Amino acid sequence: MSDEQREEALNMIKYIMYKKKRGIKVAQCKYCSKKGFFLKVSNAGLCNNCHGPVVMSLESIVRVLNDSINLINTSKNFNTKIGRVDLAIEKCDDLINEFWSRGITVFEPNPHDAKAKLLKEKEEMIEQEIYVLVEKHIEKAKRAKTVKTKMSNADKALDELLKFNQEFSYENKDLENSIHAFVHKAQFDDYIENAEKNEFK
Ligand SMILES: [Zn+2]
Repeated sequence: MSDEQREEALNMIKYIMYKKKRGIKVAQCKYCSKKGFFLKVSNAGLCNNCHGPVVMSLESIVRVLNDSINLINTSKNFNTKIGRVDLAIEKCDDLINEFWSRGITVFEPNPHDAKAKLLKEKEEMIEQEIYVLVEKHIEKAKRAKTVKTKMSNADKALDELLKFNQEFSYENKDLENSIHAFVHKAQFDDYIENAEKNEFK
């Protein structure tokens, strides 16, 4: 360290002490962490280099997030909705990891709250969809004339449950049991019917 550098460092320390004594904090950019006495930061706590790009990036993420939320609320297609929920959750994570963790929290919505809400919505969407799918197959099974067709439709309902389990880790033992119960009843009814028929042969 040269004398000049030493002098400069000493002056800086003196200046910090002076600022501390008077309760003045050294400005620090929340995004790049740069700090200095002459560093100017925006209201959002960002230096000149970071403010523009950070605001642009935040705006673009929030735009995609809001678009996705709009589509979730308006779309009737399950796969579209799930795709958008996943995208929206990803954008919340971007906001949390990239900005909120640095204390850059000037933009609405709060991504922690938004993410929690989206995860809950996704769960509800999955549950709603599986009931619709299972009901469709069971209705077909009920209308079927032969026990074989009844069972193949009930199998399709079980396949849907399995698919949802693999895709979304979704489990619903009650629903699964009710399908099994339907199959057993169909088999039993068929057995009784055949027994009655044979009795009169
Ligand atoms: Zn910066």
